[in-house]
Amino acid sequence: MVRRPHQEPVRVAGRGTPRAINRQILLNLVRAWQPVSRADLARHMGSRRGAVSLIVNDLIAEGILFEGATGESPRGRKPKFLYIDSRKRTVIAVDVRPTQTYTMVTSLLTEPIVGVSSFPTQADPVRFVRTLAARLRRLMEDHKELGQCEGIGLVVPGMVDREGASISFAPRLGWRQFPLRDLLAKATGLPVHIENSGRACAIAQAWGVRREAGRSSDFVFLSVSDGLGVGIVVNGEVLRGRHNVAGEFGHVPLAGEGPPCACGATGCWEAYVSNLATLSRYFGRNLSPRKPIPAEIASFSVDDLVARARGGDSKAVSALHSTAHYLGLGLASVVNAVDPERIFISGEIIAAWDLIETTLRQALATRVLAPAASGIEITTIPLPEHPRLRGAAALVTAPLFAVPKVG
Ligand SMILES: [Zn+2]
Repeated sequence: MVRRPHQEPVRVAGRGTPRAINRQILLNLVRAWQPVSRADLARHMGSRRGAVSLIVNDLIAEGILFEGATGESPRGRKPKFLYIDSRKRTVIAVDVRPTQTYTMVTSLLTEPIVGVSSFPTQADPVRFVRTLAARLRRLMEDHKELGQCEGIGLVVPGMVDREGASISFAPRLGWRQFPLRDLLAKATGLPVHIENSGRACAIAQAWGVRREAGRSSDFVFLSVSDGLGVGIVVNGEVLRGRHNVAGEFGHVPLAGEGPPCACGATGCWEAYVSNLATLSRYFGRNLSPRKPIPAEIASFSVDDLVARARGGDSKAVSALHSTAHYLGLGLASVVNAVDPERIFISGEIIAAWDLIETTLRQALATRVLAPAASGIEITTIPLPEHPRLRGAAALVTAPLFAVPKVG
């Protein structure tokens, strides 16, 4: 049975709370507040300092926490600060995209340790796993000094089965019913967690929002890229649905007849807002994700398009505005369906956020049912923060901090 990441740390401990749960609560508080003193932890937990110290001492003895630099205190003895000990524990994050696959090594807190590298994604999934495993084995060999790898987190632009074992269908990759998890685990000797990329971004966002944790327990994460990934968090839990496909808004039609989509249908929201859709408009071509992309367009990116827009190219500006318009229209359906507190957006097009936000919000306002929803808080996650790779890393690390469910 695969451990599914828990999203929201429980924040309140009581006298009757079992020790195992107090321990996980304390661990999550250190994660959110580090560097943090024992006294502060006791305050956050509403516990006695002695009780907190007992748990802390165990966690230090197990190598999970360590005590670092002495802090400043206005009087009395100076407190020592506690940190999660991720010095010798790492995670490998993998972001599989239709043309390139990206890898990164992170700490237990999903912070990058070894920067991003990439290689072309092979169309044949069996060959892809072989190549990926060889590269990851070499990566571990080259970085032995980093210590123990806790596992591999891998995100795909597609749907993953309920057990988190197989890719049920990844339209842009053309992979169906492919048992990626066990093949990669066997080839690398490491535990592997796989997830849809939009959903993994949502998990990382829910888990990683440091001191804000608990502020947004209802939100939607949009990952606008080769495709459109959507992750939905309601009451702090990622929405999965019966077949683990909940939140696949990317394939909800904006129009019955429309541009061809990778999934085989036409007029899907994704087919209006993917990077290919934006480039299609700029080049005045009807490009299909199901057909080879002409070389002159394949070598041109949304980053290039944004640069041209900033340079005064009016066709580039109008291509970006069209995408923003469709993003807003589709987002209105999501807002009407889920009524979240907040939206997060990442993707190449976010580099032009200052140019497109107004257009997106205008389109959103025309279709949201609750008028106030057009002013919904939208937070952009810049690409240098590697939201998808951190999402992949969170698949491995979030379960390590998960609070056991009671009752
Ligand atoms: Zn579709």
